[in-house]
Amino acid sequence: MNNLLAMKFGGTSVGSAARMKAAGDLIALEAAKRPVVAVVSAMSKITDLLLDVAKHAEADDQTAIDGGIELLEARHFEAVQELLPATERLRVHEQIEEITGDFRRIVSGMQMLGYRPPRAVDEAIAVGERLSALLVSEYLKSIGLASEAVNASEVIVTDAVFGNASPMLRETREKAEAKLRPLLDRGVIPVVTGFNGATADGRPTTLGRGGSDFSAAIVAAVLDAAELWIWTDVDGIMTADPRLVPGAKILDEITYSEAAELAYAGAKVLHPRTLAPLVEKKIPVWSKNSFAPEKPGTRIVPALGAGNGGARAVTSMANVALVSLEPANTGVGGVHVMARAIDALDSAGVELLALSSSSYRQSFCLLIRKEDLEAATQAIETALALELAHGYVHGIEVDQNVGLLAVVGEGMRGFSGLAGRIFTAISREKVNIIAIAQGSSELTISIVVRRDGLEKAVRAVHAECHLA
Ligand code: ASP
Ligand code: MG
Repeated sequence: MNNLLAMKFGGTSVGSAARMKAAGDLIALEAAKRPVVAVVSAMSKITDLLLDVAKHAEADDQTAIDGGIELLEARHFEAVQELLPATERLRVHEQIEEITGDFRRIVSGMQMLGYRPPRAVDEAIAVGERLSALLVSEYLKSIGLASEAVNASEVIVTDAVFGNASPMLRETREKAEAKLRPLLDRGVIPVVTGFNGATADGRPTTLGRGGSDFSAAIVAAVLDAAELWIWTDVDGIMTADPRLVPGAKILDEITYSEAAELAYAGAKVLHPRTLAPLVEKKIPVWSKNSFAPEKPGTRIVPALGAGNGGARAVTSMANVALVSLEPANTGVGGVHVMARAIDALDSAGVELLALSSSSYRQSFCLLIRKEDLEAATQAIETALALELAHGYVHGIEVDQNVGLLAVVGEGMRGFSGLAGRIFTAISREKVNIIAIAQGSSELTISIVVRRDGLEKAVRAVHAECHLA
C-alpha cells in the first residue's frame, strides 16, 4: 500500500476536545483520498501527571494519588462530553474507566512495594496514549468513519530498556502486518498509541519522553507508508528558536541528517531518534502545525536540491555541563582514559552532546546535559577509580556555566571560510569560545560558550550566516 499516509499528533494537537476534533477532521480530510494510519500522543501534560502519581505511590501519599487520578479522569471525561454525541458517552466513559482502572492497579502495586519498577512505570504512563487514542478513534467513528484504537504494545516490539526502549523492526513489521494491515485493507483507520511498545515476550516498554514521533516513524517505516506528517503546535522547523532570534524563519525543506542534528542539539521540533527508521525507505516527513494546517510546514527529505549551500539553522542548549579530564602526565594514555570515560557514560545511559580534546589527546572535555551530571560523574569516577586514586588522572572538573551552540547545514561541507566567519561573529560579541567540535561530515559545528553569552552568540551566528 504505497499511498498510505501516517499522521502523528502531538500532545497539544490532542490537548482538548476542540483539538481532538481538529485532529480528527484533518485525518478525515486525508482519509477521503487515501488510507491513513494515525499515531497519537497523550493529551498535553498527561504523561507528567501519570509520572507524578507514580512518584506519590512510591511515597505512599494516598491523597496525592487520589487527586492525580481524579484529574486524569476528569480531563478525559470532560473531553468526551464535548467530543462525542450523548448516545456514545456512557460507553466511552466505561472504556476510560477500564483504562484508568489498569492505572489504579499498577499504582497500588507501586504503593505496596514502596518502589516504582521501571517496567511498571512504562505500563502506567502508556495509559495517557491509550486514553487519547480511544478518544480520537471514537471521534472518527462519530463522524462516520471506520476506526479502531490500537495499543502499540501489540505492534511495536522493542528491547527491554524500560523508559528508553529501541524498536526491533523485523518483529515489529510482522506484528504490524498482522494487526494493522488487515484494518487498513478493510478501510478502517487505526489510531495507534504513540510512545509505547512491548518486548517480544510482552513486557510493556516506552521509547523515551517525547517518543511518539519515534513511534510514528516506526509505524510508517514498517508499513511502507508513502509519507509521514507530524502535527505539532509550531509552523515547522525554523532557522533558530524564535524566542532567541526574532527574525528566525521557517525552513521549507531540510534533510534527514540536518533535522536529526538539530534535534540532538536541542531544537524541540522532533524527537531525536525519529528519522532513523525512515532513512532506508526514504519516506518523506512533513512537520506541520495543527493549529494552522493551511501553512505548508517543513518537508524533511533525503537530500536537498542545488542552491542550498552554507548553514541552514542554528540551535542552542542552555542546560549543559562540561566535564573535563586530564591525565596527570604523558605516561598515562589520554586516548585510553577518554575511551574508558566515554564507555562509562554510554553504560550509564548518558548522552554525549559534544567531545573535544587537545592535540595529544591529553586533556579532553565532554559536554553532557545538566540533568545527567550526577550519573555522569559517578560513572566516570567508578570507571577511573584506580587512576584517580593514584593520581594518574587529575580530578574531574565540572563547568556548569556553559551553553552549547550548534550550526547545522549539509551545505557547509567544503564551504571554506564559514567556520572562521562564525567564530569571528561570536568573538565580535565578546563571547568567549570554550570548546569547539566538528565532525568530518562537516554537518554541524558545535561551539561551547559561556552561558551568559549564549543568546548573543546565537543571534550573531544567525545574522552572520544570513539565515533570515
Ligand atoms: N506522551 C509522551 C511524553 O509526554 C510521549 C510524547 O508526547 O511524544 O513524553
Ligand atoms: Mg509530545
